[in-house]
Amino acid sequence: MAEAASTNTALLKGTGFSPYVSAVEETGALAPEGNSLSPKPRARVQAMNEYHPPLGCRDTLRLDFNENTLACSPAVHEVLAGISTASLTRYPERGQIEAIVAAHLGLDPAQVALTNGVDEAIHVLFETFLEAGDELLLPVPTYTMYEIYASATEANAVPILAGDDLEFPYERLLAAITPRTKIIAIANPNSPSGTVATRAQLLEIAARAPHAILLVDEAYFHFFGETVMDLVGVIPNLMVARTFSKAYGLAGLRLGLLAGPVELLHWVRRVLSPYSVNSLALACLPPALADTAYLDWYVGEVLAARTEFEAAIDAVGLRHWPSQANFVLVDIGPRHAEFVRLMRDRGVLVRDRSSDPGCDGRVRITVGTREQMQEAIVALNKAMAALNRNGEE
Ligand code: PMP
Repeated sequence: MAEAASTNTALLKGTGFSPYVSAVEETGALAPEGNSLSPKPRARVQAMNEYHPPLGCRDTLRLDFNENTLACSPAVHEVLAGISTASLTRYPERGQIEAIVAAHLGLDPAQVALTNGVDEAIHVLFETFLEAGDELLLPVPTYTMYEIYASATEANAVPILAGDDLEFPYERLLAAITPRTKIIAIANPNSPSGTVATRAQLLEIAARAPHAILLVDEAYFHFFGETVMDLVGVIPNLMVARTFSKAYGLAGLRLGLLAGPVELLHWVRRVLSPYSVNSLALACLPPALADTAYLDWYVGEVLAARTEFEAAIDAVGLRHWPSQANFVLVDIGPRHAEFVRLMRDRGVLVRDRSSDPGCDGRVRITVGTREQMQEAIVALNKAMAALNRNGEE
């Protein structure tokens, strides 16, 4: 590293970079955050931390990120296998696929934007609408990326804490609406709790904040079955996000969508990269949508497994929250980190949510197929027995 730095600075000597060369020579190395001369990002970005989801070495039972735990539709596999490398020389064209998705949702193509996962939809929506002085209302605990993308804007995120039951904090959210409210982001079902807001609640929130966008993130819609997608274009401030990362099993392709009234979506399209959804993802979308039999099978499998898994959690005497999604939040208590480690030792990855607001001691466990969850139940029973044994020592 020091050698590389000296080679670099040698090349720069006698050029306009002389002050930089002296700064590097003074400190002896290139500091990772730059030096006093290097360009600084906006103050908001300087205050942020890098977010690294705890991925890595996940070739085992993945019950940590709420993905599909098995595979996508075989129809997608076939299309992928048939893609020519020649087709990769072209920039992706999303218009036609957006029209197919819109038709599937019963919407007009102008009301749907495909995105690089819902993450891009959230990011671009926030970049498009949030400015200094604006407020983003966020019922918490919720999906981490809302706060991260908000913290890169000049707006303020206003957390609205759920009670101990982790139910949607409806009354508190209504009371928090101000003239400065610009976006209200609601994951429905919510993560990590699995709890939901009702359609009537969402309608009332939209009506009480006509000057704000109500973003309903339906990432886990297929496991819940209720939606407000049919109200897109009817309620003027409603936007709905969906992902192909969960039930469809395409998290690695990065595919999501943002639906909303044309008047709002055309602002978003100004900020959205025209090529952010790549051609492999676009090619896979129509077969994924068309194979409803596969989707129904996978969702049915998860719902049956969820019932069995919840019963197993009850049997070991742990508290959990009623979930309408493909995961269950479980109260492990003070020894949550040890529990996560014990499960990992038994080949099952689960996600510690202890650092989420109001979630100390709570671990989120994704629900996969019945067969996989039988394996998870064995690991759970053994982990709890080990925790109880250690506790007695
Ligand atoms: N919204 C919610 C509520 C989520 O839990 C997640 C992923 N865990 C996302 C959005 C992100 O989805 P995507 O993979 O489409 O970016």
